[in-house]
This record gives sequence, C-alpha cells and structure tokens, in this order.
Amino acid sequence: MKRSRFRKWGKWVGLVGCVVIVTVFAVSVCWRLGRVFRCGSQTVMLAVGHGCLMVGHDDKPTVSEWWVERSRPQAPRVYWMPDYSRGSWLMLSATIIPLWIPFLIVAIPTLLLWRRDRRPPANHCQSCGYNLTGNVSGVCPECGTERLTTKA
Ligand SMILES: [Zn+2]
Repeated sequence: MKRSRFRKWGKWVGLVGCVVIVTVFAVSVCWRLGRVFRCGSQTVMLAVGHGCLMVGHDDKPTVSEWWVERSRPQAPRVYWMPDYSRGSWLMLSATIIPLWIPFLIVAIPTLLLWRRDRRPPANHCQSCGYNLTGNVSGVCPECGTERLTTKA
C-alpha cells in the first residue's frame, strides 16, 4: 500500500524535478545567478551557471547578497564535466557539478516508475497484464479479474 503510493507520487515528483532541472539548465546557459552569504569568517556561494551547480567558498568575508549576471561571451557556454577550480571567474574555490548529473539521478528512477506504471494494452488483463485475446469468459484465467473493458 505504502509502496504503490510512493510510485503514484514519485513519478510525478520525479517528472517535475526533471522539468525544473532542464529549466534551470536552459537559464544557466545564458545567466549566472546565485547567492553569496557569510558563514562565520567564510564566504559561501551557491549558484547556477554554464549548465552547472556551483558551490563555492572563500576565506575573504563579503556581504550576503543575491546576484545575477549574464554569462560573458568569451566563457564556455556549458561546462560538461565536474570540476574544482580556484580563482576562476568566481574568485572563489568552487565545486562545479554539471546539471546532467542530478538530472540523471532524478530521471532514471522516474523513467522506471513510469514504465512500471504503464497500463497494459486494451486486450490484456488490466490487473496482471495477461493477454486476453480470444478470451470469451470475460474473466482473466491468470488472476481471476473480471474484464473491465467490455465490447458493446
Ligand atoms: Zn489478470
């Protein structure tokens, strides 16, 4: 019971997650946006840009703020590989995680949930998927479910 409920919601949550990640990716190709905030004596940054998530830190204190800027034309549009950079455009140490990684993490289980939930074809038992072509009793010989779709 609990499991089927998870499937029912999980596939939609997963689908929304995929759409969100794709949208963020599309935006991040042209824009960099994120938030810098102080964490004790450290500066921490969470951002998206160049098709990646970026988690950065620095030991120089800054003011906490949101920031948005257009990607510079000379910079690569998308970084496809994970990276750790020091003193790049961020002026911070940053871990760069391409968005295709979280996308795959969300998309693969979502795809499996959708495939598993796909309904059997009309001439198959809607309960167990047994092929009912030529079945005249209207009862599935495999699991005993009465056929729901009856021909007029
Ligand atoms: Zn059946």
